[in-house]
Amino acid sequence: MRQSRPHAIVIGAGLAGLAAAQDLAAGGATVQLLEAGDAVGGRVRTDRVRLDGTPAAAGEPAFQLDRGFQVLLTAYPELRRRADLDALQLHGFAPGALVRADGGLHRVSDPFRAPQALLRTLLAPVGSLMDKARLARLRWRLRQGDAEAPLHGPQRTSAEALAAEGFSTTMVARFLRPLFGGVLLDPRLDTSARLLNFTFRMFAEGMAAVPAGGVGALPEQLAARLPDGRVELRLGARATAIGPGATVHLGTERLSADAVVVATDGPAYAELTGQSAPAGRPVTCLQYAVPRPPVEEPLIVLNGEGRGPVLHLSVPSAVAPGYAPPGWHLVSATVLGEAQGQDDATLQAEAAAQLRAWFGSPVDEWRLLRAERIPYGQPVQTPPALDEPYQPARLGAGLYACGDHRAHGSQQGALRSGGRAAAAVLADMEWGSTG
Ligand SMILES: Cc1cc2nc3c(=O)[nH]c(=O)nc-3n(C[C@H](O)[C@H](O)[C@H](O)COP(=O)(O)OP(=O)(O)OC[C@H]3O[C@@H](n4cnc5c(N)ncnc54)[C@H](O)[C@@H]3O)c2cc1C
Repeated sequence: MRQSRPHAIVIGAGLAGLAAAQDLAAGGATVQLLEAGDAVGGRVRTDRVRLDGTPAAAGEPAFQLDRGFQVLLTAYPELRRRADLDALQLHGFAPGALVRADGGLHRVSDPFRAPQALLRTLLAPVGSLMDKARLARLRWRLRQGDAEAPLHGPQRTSAEALAAEGFSTTMVARFLRPLFGGVLLDPRLDTSARLLNFTFRMFAEGMAAVPAGGVGALPEQLAARLPDGRVELRLGARATAIGPGATVHLGTERLSADAVVVATDGPAYAELTGQSAPAGRPVTCLQYAVPRPPVEEPLIVLNGEGRGPVLHLSVPSAVAPGYAPPGWHLVSATVLGEAQGQDDATLQAEAAAQLRAWFGSPVDEWRLLRAERIPYGQPVQTPPALDEPYQPARLGAGLYACGDHRAHGSQQGALRSGGRAAAAVLADMEWGSTG
C-alpha cells in the first residue's frame, strides 16, 4: 500500500473534470485542476448580460444566457449524488410541450408520465390510438432495471428504434423527432437508441429544470464544494502538451504528478493524447430579449411542422424569473442541422421569418442578444458508438481520460466518467477505494 498522498493533474473543469477532482480529493489525493477558460463548467456555463449585450455587474438585474439551451434532468443519478439540488433552487418546466402543427400551437400533456393523455391532446384529432399503447409499453419496458439499464439495450439508431416500436409518422414528426432531436442535437435521429432510451427514462422519472441562477450554477456549486487544501483550481491554464511520466506542459511551464486525467472535450483530448475522438454535433442558440413572452407557460415549444431553422424554443424567464431583468423576458431558440451552416445574417433572417409566422408581429420587437454557435455540442454517437456506454478510463501508465466523448453525451455521462477516471487512478495508486 502506498504511503505518500498521490498527486493528480486534471485537465479541464467541465462536469467530468469537476467530478474527477471531487472523487480524487475524497479518495485522499491532492489535485491540480487546470481549466483553459475563465470559469468552470465547459459547455455548462451562464453569462449575465445587459440589454446591449455587455457584461452585467454582480447583483445587477440581467439576462442570464446559458451557452446553449440546456436543462438539468433531476433523475440523473450522478446529479442527485453530487449536487445539492435544493441549493440550486431549481425551477421545473411543466410536463409536456406546446407543438406547432397545422398552423397553430397544440398543448401536449406529459407523454412520459401519462401516455394516454398525450393522445387526447395531440393525436386524437389525427387518429393513431395505437401510439398510446406503444408509448405506455415503451415507458414500462424502459423503467425496468437500474437507471442506466437502457444504455445496454438493443444497438440501433434512434430513428430505427422508433420505427421498430411502430409509432405513427405523425407522432414521430410532430413530437418525438423535435423533442429528442433537440435533446440529442440530432434532428435525423441517427444517434444510438441507447441514449434516446436512457433520456426517455430520465424524462419519465424526474423533472427537466433550470437553476435560478442559470445552468452554470451547477458547475459553480460543484467547484465550491471541492476541498480547499486538496484541490488547486487554476483558471486560464491551458495544457499544451502531455509528456512522459505524468507531466503536463502549459507553454513553457512544466508540471508533474503521479497521474494525469484528461477531462477535456473530444477535440482537445485528441490533440493532447494523439488518440481519436468522435466528431461533434454542432448547435446554434439564438437568444432574444422580448418585451412580452410569446408563451406564458413554462413549456417547451416544439417545431412539429418540419419547416424553418428553429427546432424548438422556450422562454427560460417564464420558468425561472431570474433569467431576465424586470420588464423583460428571454426567448431561447435552438437551431440544428443544415440551417446552422448558413451565414449569421441569413440564419437570423430565416429564424425571424419562422418565428413571425408562429407568433405574429410582436416578433418585430424582439432584440437578438446573442447568436451562439457551439461547434462541439455533443459527441456524434451513431452506432457502433455506445457499444460500451463508458470507455475505459486508463490510457496508459499514469494517463487517464474522461468526458462525455468517453461516455455518452449528457451531464450524467460526463459526471460518471469523471468518477470512473478518479476510481481508476486511486486503484492504480493502491490508495482509496476502487469505487
Ligand atoms: C447546447 C447544449 C445543450 C445540451 N443539453 C443537455 C441537456 O439538456 N442535458 C444533458 O444531460 N446534457 C446536455 N448537453 C451535453 C452536456 O452539456 C455535456 O455532455 C457535458 O457538459 C460535457 O461535459 P465534459 O466535462 O465532458 O466536457 P466540457 O463541458 O466540454 O468540459 C471540458 C473542459 O475542458 C476545458 N479544456 C479544453 N481543452 C483544455 C486544455 N488544453 N487545457 C485545460 N482545459 C481545457 C474546456 O475549457 C472545458 O471547460 C448539452 C450540450 C450543449 C452544448
